[in-house]
Amino acid sequence: MRPFTYQRADDASSAVRALAAAAANNTPLTEAEIQPLAGGTTLLDLMKLDVMRPRGIVDISPLASAWSAISTENGGLRLGALARMSDVAANADVQQHYPAIADSLKLAASPQLRNMATLGGNVLQRTRCTYFRDVSYEACNKRNPGSGCAAMEGFNRTHAVLGASDRCIATYPGDFAQALIALDATVEISGKAGTRTMAFADLHKAPGATPQIETTLSPGELISGFSIAGRWPRSVYLKARDRQSYEFALASAAVALDVADGTVRDARVALGGVATMPWRAREAEALIKGQKFDDELAQRVAEAAFSGATAKRHNEFKIALGKRVVARALHQAATMEIRT
Ligand code: FAD
Ligand code: SF4
Repeated sequence: MRPFTYQRADDASSAVRALAAAAANNTPLTEAEIQPLAGGTTLLDLMKLDVMRPRGIVDISPLASAWSAISTENGGLRLGALARMSDVAANADVQQHYPAIADSLKLAASPQLRNMATLGGNVLQRTRCTYFRDVSYEACNKRNPGSGCAAMEGFNRTHAVLGASDRCIATYPGDFAQALIALDATVEISGKAGTRTMAFADLHKAPGATPQIETTLSPGELISGFSIAGRWPRSVYLKARDRQSYEFALASAAVALDVADGTVRDARVALGGVATMPWRAREAEALIKGQKFDDELAQRVAEAAFSGATAKRHNEFKIALGKRVVARALHQAATMEIRT
């Protein structure tokens, strides 16, 4: 591990000032010289692996008193960015009104990690691509722009089948982001110019020609919270993985339905484990709106969700697996009992 400075932020404005002071224009967030530290379960790992090399960190955990509230007032949900994954997963209101959110967190990582890890850090976690995380591989456009991509012809079983480019096929690894994107969440961002809010769907970027640029955040900006309008009791997060706990998704789906008299008024489908970024399957959603739900319809929606998928040598199985996960998640959402 390389030497780095450690600074503890007293409040949001001092954190933003410390981060912004070192933020050079046009530097990708992931290469900013000073990085915010929340739970540290991703950042410190990547620093130990020499993948991320900040010269300093600003510990934002003292902001937790202001940024960790879980609130269901006004008929919606607001989650502070420093709320711990385990606290949100265990919250009774979240479990009742937003089961997809609770399950996406409960099915992630391990209890110890969830006790430490925050929501903001979770959505900004970086890919688990082996070639990205092992600096002995030279060719990784995300870590070393312009160097190539070892995964293209390498072992790519866990890589993406949606949203890939000829520069990078790395999978976005998180679970929570899929639930957020399915429920049309917004994200609140604090920077030196103040606070702004945008659709969560606009936070992450597909790799395109610049896989090192993963989000639309600028260095110096902090995520302070997430909001969801309305309630989504008929929502599900389903995750298929190599083992039943402590494992990233091979394919997952966040599904939310609004059903009245057997007809689907609104439907949301988001995919995880299969795409380079949190992925909303909007064309698939359009098939189900206004229809009576049945398993044949679920199958058509699942097919549509993967209509644009392209596989590499070892990950073709993800297309069939992903379709099954989507169909099953739709079935679960349509048939679940709703507590009022
Ligand atoms: P940190 O490590 O502190 O930060 C992560 C990144 O976000 C850093 O770059 C940091 O600078 C930045 N950051 C943090 N907070 C903010 C903020 N508020 N504003 C702006 N930038 C910020 N995740 C899953 O979803 N599913 C899994 O199955 C899963 N399995 C895991 C298994 C293992 C063994 C490990 C180590 C991790 C796993 N994770 C999984 C990832 C884990 O959930 C994340 O490491 C964790 O959520 C990150 O949160 P943190 O608070 O520790 O972030
Ligand atoms: Fe790097 Fe992306 Fe290729 Fe993995 S898939 S080696 S992260 S460029």
